[in-house]
Amino acid sequence: MGSSDDDSDRKTSGGASRRGRPAGSRGRGGASSGNSSSSSGGGGVTSYKIPEDIAAKVNAPRTSSEQSRNSAGLKTGDFLISVEDINLETPPIWRIDGKFLIQKYEPIKGKGQRLYKNMGTYMSWAADTEKFRPVSVRYHQMGRTETIVELLDNPHSSTFNLSKMLSIEETSKYLDNFEIFIQTLVSQALDPNFLVEITQEGDEYFMKNVAIVQEANLTRKNKIMELKSWDESTQEELDSLPVLELVLLRNVPPSECAVCHQTANARLVQIYGRPYDPSTLLIQENVPTPGKRQHNMCSFCAGLADLYNKVQHLTYHLYLRCCEKVTLRKKESADDDTTLILNDILADEKWLSKAFSDVQHIWGDVDQIYAAAKEEQEGGKAASPGKAATSGKAGTSGKAASSTEKTASA
Ligand SMILES: [Zn+2]
Repeated sequence: MGSSDDDSDRKTSGGASRRGRPAGSRGRGGASSGNSSSSSGGGGVTSYKIPEDIAAKVNAPRTSSEQSRNSAGLKTGDFLISVEDINLETPPIWRIDGKFLIQKYEPIKGKGQRLYKNMGTYMSWAADTEKFRPVSVRYHQMGRTETIVELLDNPHSSTFNLSKMLSIEETSKYLDNFEIFIQTLVSQALDPNFLVEITQEGDEYFMKNVAIVQEANLTRKNKIMELKSWDESTQEELDSLPVLELVLLRNVPPSECAVCHQTANARLVQIYGRPYDPSTLLIQENVPTPGKRQHNMCSFCAGLADLYNKVQHLTYHLYLRCCEKVTLRKKESADDDTTLILNDILADEKWLSKAFSDVQHIWGDVDQIYAAAKEEQEGGKAASPGKAATSGKAGTSGKAASSTEKTASA
């Protein structure tokens, strides 16, 4: 216990300004000092509203197992490929099933896309990240007995999986900035005037770190914008509505993707939620809540829209997480000073590092998809014609075609 604890402690606190600047001595006192008079009646702290449906959606883990990521960031439901198999023409892939087992998925012959079907074969697994690499899949069919997934990575590609791993390695340098970013959002959750105040005051400590995290996020947003091909009205929905839900349509025939117009196994993309002000993160009370928007999209376009939603609303989603954390903490002892609450929350290393790892995975997914799309664009002519024509290239060739159609008809 001793040595590993020491180690992780050093990693997270070493050089972190959070430790060096306890909230009480910050002058701002987290959320409390500037506003103590207005919030002393208890009214100030309740004036923000957490849209509960959104908070629940955003905070809900995708699967019940998502919380239990192991040290390599892998969790039940993630897919792997064995390093030994990478040179096979169609290597099998494996789905992590609990702590010690992986389930085999074999390629379905005769399909252009890299489709895989679950098999009854299991193997024991010791979270061995040297022998296995994570791969990205998208679900095509989830039956009671048969599950079909599409492998999104090309195991034979030179950038295979490297881009996500390298990305996560690269973005780990933002940990210190991220901690102060979260400190800012928790402070905003405690005092709805916090962001406005630090902006007006030009508070460098907070603003600088917020800007660094948002800049890293903007880089990912720009990458998606380079690949995207949805129209202006979908863009507006994605930009303003913070919740996106992917619904897998079972037992329906393939249909036309609303974005790239390829015929594919559709999924329903639902975009909804209440618009908020990006500078204060507060719900825009005077703007009516728009209805749920729904689009049929192929797996590639749906996945890209999903990633865009995560990047576009990253700050807001994290803010809702902070609001939820604040609410939980206040339930424990409602009378505590906001500075104490802030310090307690920031001392929760596990919670902080989970939030950071989630962000790194989102950025890593964007970097990975971007690298793969670029590689296919550049190497498209060299690739085997069968593959290039049929596999999920909605992403690149089909996309380019559809966006030119759009401009022509507009
Ligand atoms: Zn599509």
